[in-house]
Amino acid sequence: MTLHQNLIAGEWVGTDGIENINPSNTNEVVGLYARASADDAKTAIAAAKAAFPSWSRSGILERHSILKKTADEILARKDELGKLLAREEGKTLPEAIGETIRAAQIFDYFAGECLRLAGEVLPSVRPNIGVEITREPIGVIGIITPWNFPIAIPAWKIAPALCYGNTVVFKPAELVPGCSWAIADILHRAGLPKGVLNLVMGKGSVVGQAMLDSPDLAAITFTGSTGTGKRVAASSIEHNRKFQLEMGGKNPMVVLDDADLTVAVEAAANSGFFSTGQRCTASSRLIVTEGIHDKFVAALTEKLKGLVVDDPLKAGTHIGPVVDAGQLKQDTDYIAIGQSEGAKLAFGGETISRDNPGFYLQPTLFTEATNQMRISREEIFGPVASVIRVKDYEEALSVANDTPFGLSAGIATTSLKHATHFKRNSEAGMVMVNLPTAGVDFHVPFGGRKASSFGSREQGKYAAEFFTVVKTAYTLA
Ligand code: ADP
Repeated sequence: MTLHQNLIAGEWVGTDGIENINPSNTNEVVGLYARASADDAKTAIAAAKAAFPSWSRSGILERHSILKKTADEILARKDELGKLLAREEGKTLPEAIGETIRAAQIFDYFAGECLRLAGEVLPSVRPNIGVEITREPIGVIGIITPWNFPIAIPAWKIAPALCYGNTVVFKPAELVPGCSWAIADILHRAGLPKGVLNLVMGKGSVVGQAMLDSPDLAAITFTGSTGTGKRVAASSIEHNRKFQLEMGGKNPMVVLDDADLTVAVEAAANSGFFSTGQRCTASSRLIVTEGIHDKFVAALTEKLKGLVVDDPLKAGTHIGPVVDAGQLKQDTDYIAIGQSEGAKLAFGGETISRDNPGFYLQPTLFTEATNQMRISREEIFGPVASVIRVKDYEEALSVANDTPFGLSAGIATTSLKHATHFKRNSEAGMVMVNLPTAGVDFHVPFGGRKASSFGSREQGKYAAEFFTVVKTAYTLA
């Protein structure tokens, strides 16, 4: 089997490989991917540092052209890359192709942003002095990504990093190196100069940790667990480096008595169970007012009965497998915890067998949950959601906000008053009215509050805040 190597200083290197296993068929090896060492990470950082002076002064047309070529190739290969994504991560083929198209759109967006770099020219408060405010690249950016969006998250960190003139050391999650390798290969062939993007695949505790320990990274952008996020933060403070964190969520979806039942059920099913519930914007707390509670639970249960859990490449599959054995254990442990805490298992809860050995789990719905239970407070990251019954809108809002997290929050209602109030008073970075909590655009900011996120927003023009540093220059006329 061909070994997909690491890209360091413009060369493909590495001999030692890890098997990329398909979670829908654990007998299938998707590919063999090089395992970088801590020394490889150091070499990659040195290469990115050496490449920075020239890339940071590169012309915007060169950057535009490389990002645009990358976008075009990803889009042209959407079916092939989408299939690779579905095989390595387990989301359904339509979801995986959709995510691949999203990655292309992000590269395309930042190809355009290169041509729109702007600053400000202002008069000084002192006579005969002019002031210019510009944005400059920061330096070498460390990019550490999780497994749940194997192509979109790398794209939304790499594209702005390069667009604004930074160089990159990129470490994807060890479970899903395939899409990341493809992005590096495409950028390399699109003409990115040596050392501008370095790919180091391998273990977080080795390669990721070597990045955290380096004094030469000017910034780290990270998406993953809260625990690792805290290590990124602590190491970054020690090294005086900028950092951006996207971590967990425990996103509420409020359903009010006046909701359109079909809209509410579609939003809840999508939020809780699509992509196997493995999205940081997934909703695992369905907060439902008394008047609609029983109807909502009955309709959602009916909907879940109709969802097909199977191989993501099969037509008709709605939910693929859980990503690996460790995540499956976490999900089933939480299902047991929910039962022991007194929540009622209304649907699902069992692992299931399919034609091939994989990590298949039924979509699982708890009812009679309270917001104090561990299943309501801790992120499960699987196809598991709980219904919490509340009296009225005021209680729903208070329960929705009563969480350590604050990424996304949804409400299903036909009341303008409640929708407007919820938009203003939800303590989340993103608010959805009559829409699932997950599913966002690429040209507008993404991010959360409280324990979900730290630092400035990702995506859209707001990404410039993280990937550049502002300079204020004064000139005597
Ligand atoms: P999850 O696997 O739950 O998404 P993690 O935080 O473990 O969350 O993983 C997210 C990313 O962080 C992965 O690329 C992983 O390899 C990396 N990572 C894990 N541990 C460390 C660490 N100690 N230092 C740096 N990166 C790490």
